[in-house]
Amino acid sequence: VVKSLLSRHGFQFSKALGQNFLINPEICPKMATECGADQTKGVIEVGPGFGVLTRELAARANKVVAIELDKRLPAVLAETLRDFNNVKVVQADVMEVDLHQLIQDEFSGLDVLVCANLPYYITSPVIMKLLEEKLPVESLTVMVQKEAAVRICAASGTRACGAVSVAVQYYSQPQILFDVPRDCFFPAPNVDSAVIRLNIRKEPPVKLETEEKQFFKLVKAAFGQRRKTVLNSLNTGLGKSKEELSAALQQAGIEPTARAEQLTMEQFGTLCNLLFPNKAK
Ligand code: SAM
Repeated sequence: VVKSLLSRHGFQFSKALGQNFLINPEICPKMATECGADQTKGVIEVGPGFGVLTRELAARANKVVAIELDKRLPAVLAETLRDFNNVKVVQADVMEVDLHQLIQDEFSGLDVLVCANLPYYITSPVIMKLLEEKLPVESLTVMVQKEAAVRICAASGTRACGAVSVAVQYYSQPQILFDVPRDCFFPAPNVDSAVIRLNIRKEPPVKLETEEKQFFKLVKAAFGQRRKTVLNSLNTGLGKSKEELSAALQQAGIEPTARAEQLTMEQFGTLCNLLFPNKAK
């Protein structure tokens, strides 16, 4: 089917747009089912490509809005999605779309999910946009590179944990659903993938007494120099004195020799409240 579409539409894959299309027939039904799509749900898909996942979502969900950047694809999608009257294709860059407005306009009365095989060149920016904008969505079920999946889902306090893991886990509870080998795609990428599900938290896991942006600044600075102790990383990254930092670390119950990946979410929260006290209080 993909080969026929390619030749009839004279389509050539764009590497720059991360176009590795799914050709294994088992993956899309599994993703569409596991994301929880049903008649009570509206689904936002990012990057429908030729519409293989879109069809499975449309067969289960009440409505699907698929955002695709490539101007050549709406013509192909008009063909592959012609059996469905509950799909809208929006030709746009997902990073530029006002998703709050889109949800309000398109999904009135429905619970909203995101389900996507993400273009790998902007995996983290797309996930962070979806999380930081605090959209009224239940969950994100997305396919990403295996390595990114492991990093995103690594619990704080474990070795694989990085700034992205802490940021994602501030907003959601992530889990790896299943692996997807590279030969499930055409053209096949150089790495394997995995589908992850991020269940959006109703409340953050730590109570911050200051602005969230200070928390993320702290996390980024702590992981800024991975081989250094958190004391040295924060000294460089935040420009705060070692005396002030040492006192805060001690108060938060953090060893002076600890590295960022050893800190728990709670410890990051406590440290943030100590280093950035709310002056208005
Ligand atoms: N869903 C299809 C599948 O699973 O076969 C295609 C997935 S492919 C990995 C990623 C898709 O995202 C491509 O169709 C690409 O054109 C689209 N894309 C890339 N950058 C985008 C952006 N900034 N906004 C929306 N779509 C984008």
